[in-house]
Amino acid sequence: MRLRIGWLYARTMNIYGDRGNVLALVERCRRRGIAAEVVELGVGDPLEPGRYDLFFWGGGQDREQIAAAHDLRGAKGEALRAEVERGVPILAVCGGYQLLGHFYRPHDGPELPGLGIFDAWTVAGERRMIGNVVVDSPAFGELVGFENHSGRTYLGPGTEPLGFVRIGHGNNGEDGTEGCRYRNAIGTYLHGPVLPKNPQLADFLVAAALRLRGWEGELPPLDDELAAVAHAEAVARARDQERAQRRRWFRRP
Ligand code: GLN
Repeated sequence: MRLRIGWLYARTMNIYGDRGNVLALVERCRRRGIAAEVVELGVGDPLEPGRYDLFFWGGGQDREQIAAAHDLRGAKGEALRAEVERGVPILAVCGGYQLLGHFYRPHDGPELPGLGIFDAWTVAGERRMIGNVVVDSPAFGELVGFENHSGRTYLGPGTEPLGFVRIGHGNNGEDGTEGCRYRNAIGTYLHGPVLPKNPQLADFLVAAALRLRGWEGELPPLDDELAAVAHAEAVARARDQERAQRRRWFRRP
């Protein structure tokens, strides 16, 4: 079995350890005897329909998002949209996630059109939302990660969030939601990277990719002891951060 991973804007949109998501996908495949090839898809590179089994798109600053939004106008964006409709899994983090919605409106400059895969939109806010996050996800259980964004993402009615924040800000710091799901597409603000600490999410993407190839069955479990340690550590840090925030609040002048 072979899988081909298309890594969107690998060189330009890759922050706070996002690359670790690709490593986690490849390694979890390797441990199960699945060869995963990674193809970087930068600005100007064509996206050939049917060629990729899974996509990853990381976060980046506004400047890189402008280049990506421009690159996805026309045939390339159409192809990515059609692939997601076909059920090809994609994980998009932060800046990438924002561009899977209808638009991202930055502080300065014109609104960036998104692909509209998610019924969601993002508006840059005044305050950056930074810190460790703990999320309760109906589909994936407890998820942990690290967020750093000023964009506030709002989900349209009926749009499924990835989960609900227990600690942290998530989509917008207002409605308690974090991330988004549509078919096998997952958008999230969780960096960290997110997949090594939440291997159930990685396995969802791999299983979805394999199923699309006609594979039936369950992925054999892996020894995830280290992932569990990293996950627990992230939860502990998020709790410490929350306690410190409360202490600061009570010490306000
Ligand atoms: N420019 C976006 C924001 O701050 C994305 C940042 C990111 O990807 N970390 O909202």
